[in-house]
Amino acid sequence: MLRLYTHPACLQHEPGPGHPESPARLRAVLAALDRDRFAALDRIEAPRASREALERVHEPAYVTRILASAPAEGQLRLDEDTVMSPGSAEAALRAAGAVAAAVDAVFDRTASRAFCAVRPPGHHATADRAMGFCLFNNVAVGAAHALAGHGLERVAIADFDVHHGNGTQDIFANEPRVLFVSSHQAPLYPGSGGADETGVGNLLNAPLPPGTGSQAFRRIWEDQLLPRLDAFRPQLLLVSAGFDAHRADPLAQLELDASDYAWLTGRLVEIARRHAGGRVVSTLEGGYDLTALAASAAAHVAALLG
Ligand SMILES: [Zn+2]
Repeated sequence: MLRLYTHPACLQHEPGPGHPESPARLRAVLAALDRDRFAALDRIEAPRASREALERVHEPAYVTRILASAPAEGQLRLDEDTVMSPGSAEAALRAAGAVAAAVDAVFDRTASRAFCAVRPPGHHATADRAMGFCLFNNVAVGAAHALAGHGLERVAIADFDVHHGNGTQDIFANEPRVLFVSSHQAPLYPGSGGADETGVGNLLNAPLPPGTGSQAFRRIWEDQLLPRLDAFRPQLLLVSAGFDAHRADPLAQLELDASDYAWLTGRLVEIARRHAGGRVVSTLEGGYDLTALAASAAAHVAALLG
């Protein structure tokens, strides 16, 4: 059983005209996951993240600031790319809450896997800083919830967004119970993610030069990232599913297509089946060409269905 977590509030986060992280992204993903082609999805309205869940990864003062910062009208700019609108705090609560609820669902066996179609994305948000379109670090909230709420000892996060998940890395750099593996373009925003960034031996970064295509992408996962995940024997596999390494994406220069996401997702599901009872919780990060995003997310979810 595959659960789809989303919430209408995630469409009410409005970074403003011309901003690439638009509500249209989520509308495109949900349209691609329509009830005809994806009748098997168990569609669930995402709950709000609890304060406790957020504070496992964010500074309490930061949580308070984000929840209080949504402007009554218009936009409030937190940095040059990260913006809050009147609906942003509620959207951010639902986005983080989706991942925590999905973790609960795969442990109480109401689902084996879940995809969280949510925004704002999360993997750039650090413990005390919004950045890169991200407010709360959704995948980190899920991982910390799995450790604290379910007593896990090994949680893996696979991040294939074209940008490095600097926030997730920062939050878990000293946490050996979390393995973070990432492929991303370099050089590119946010500038972190060098192969020499290894944390306490729990980070594996694979920077890829602009122009990297399917073959080289699959090889680096096959040779480096997947074996590391397999050796870690995760009890839960979380995925930061950004689709902006697609060749059509306007924000980066990798050359993937939707079939690469299907392939990698299938390989991740195999590892989860081997070690984690099949448990995978994936959450939407980037992806800014609407057609490519829709096709890639559909390929990813189809592979999660297995
Ligand atoms: Zn990205």
